[in-house]
Amino acid sequence: MQNFEYVAARSVDGAIQLSTSESRFLAGGIDLLGEMKEYITSPKRIIDIKLIPGLDQIDTSTSIWKLGANVTITEIAKNKQILTALPGLAEAASEVGSPQIRNVATLGGNLAQHSRCWYYRHRDLRCLKRGGSTCYARDGENKYHSLFSGNPCISPVVSNLAVILAALNARVNVRRGDKEIALTIGELFSDAWNNPLAHNSLLPGDLIADVEIPTQKTRSTYLQVSEKGAFDWALVSCAAAGRKTGDQLADVSVFLGAVAPIPFRVESPLLERGDLSTEAIESIAESVASKATPMAHNGYKVPIAQALIRRALARIVS
Ligand SMILES: Cc1cc2nc3c(=O)[nH]c(=O)nc-3n(C[C@H](O)[C@H](O)[C@H](O)COP(=O)(O)OP(=O)(O)OC[C@H]3O[C@@H](n4cnc5c(N)ncnc54)[C@H](O)[C@@H]3O)c2cc1C
Ligand code: SF4
Repeated sequence: MQNFEYVAARSVDGAIQLSTSESRFLAGGIDLLGEMKEYITSPKRIIDIKLIPGLDQIDTSTSIWKLGANVTITEIAKNKQILTALPGLAEAASEVGSPQIRNVATLGGNLAQHSRCWYYRHRDLRCLKRGGSTCYARDGENKYHSLFSGNPCISPVVSNLAVILAALNARVNVRRGDKEIALTIGELFSDAWNNPLAHNSLLPGDLIADVEIPTQKTRSTYLQVSEKGAFDWALVSCAAAGRKTGDQLADVSVFLGAVAPIPFRVESPLLERGDLSTEAIESIAESVASKATPMAHNGYKVPIAQALIRRALARIVS
């Protein structure tokens, strides 16, 4: 690792004041330290944000719950109120890595983590995302890559939490200089859809303070298929959430993970109409295939995505 300066912030204002164009925030360190050890990033200053009071709190006192950026993945997976009211969020958290990773990794770090593309993570390669001129995955080993992308980089979003938070209409509160801005999950990732260099839409020095989650969508689920039964990334994931109105579900949203640089919204007029009959679910799942652009080695993701959409919708309807 290159030498770096370590500073610990005691407030959000302090963290913002300490940040420079060559600093990075340190939360659990699971992602950042890996990148530093591989010389993918060499920040001059590390700003530890774990000691900032309040950022590790879960506030459920109103109908919009607020989770501080430093809440760990384990806390999200095990919190009794989340398990009852937002089961999909707890499911997504419980599928992250291993217990050791979940105990340390944070909500903010999970949302802001960088690409896991093996070419990006190779210390000696400089692909498009690292400012080079080539995407090695397009004509290379693209088994784990995207089916949908708005730019030449096909590295998919791998944050489990981003996928379910998109389905739950969450807002991410970000401190940008002296301003506070609220981003939808779509906005938090839109730059990654458009720009091969971007992992998300955060600017250098932006600090995620907390995430606000409306609790109206009481029916929610998160499912994933991985190569291993535990301690593995999703090959494809799917989150679905809806609001119960009598016997019906309203505002149903479905998002796929690990198939695009953003949580990928499954769009269908049937979903908009709230038609979740067996035939409708089949048709919604089928519609994904025609929109996908599989590469040489990732076409297997299409039927997995379809199966997960069917299962996720059947689960929130039942
Ligand atoms: C073996 C392995 C398996 C994994 N499996 C999964 C998986 O299945 N699903 C999944 O979702 N993830 C998985 N992960 C990724 C892991 O969940 C993330 O690396 C972790 O959540 C990052 O959180 P952290 O607190 O450690 O972040 P850090 O490593 O501290 O930070 C990550 C990035 O976010 C920035 N950052 C941190 N906090 C903030 C903030 N509040 N505001 C702005 N920027 C911030 C940092 O500067 C850095 O760029 C896995 C990781 C490993 C190593
Ligand atoms: S998919 Fe993106 S991160 Fe991977 S090699 Fe291509 S440009 Fe780099």
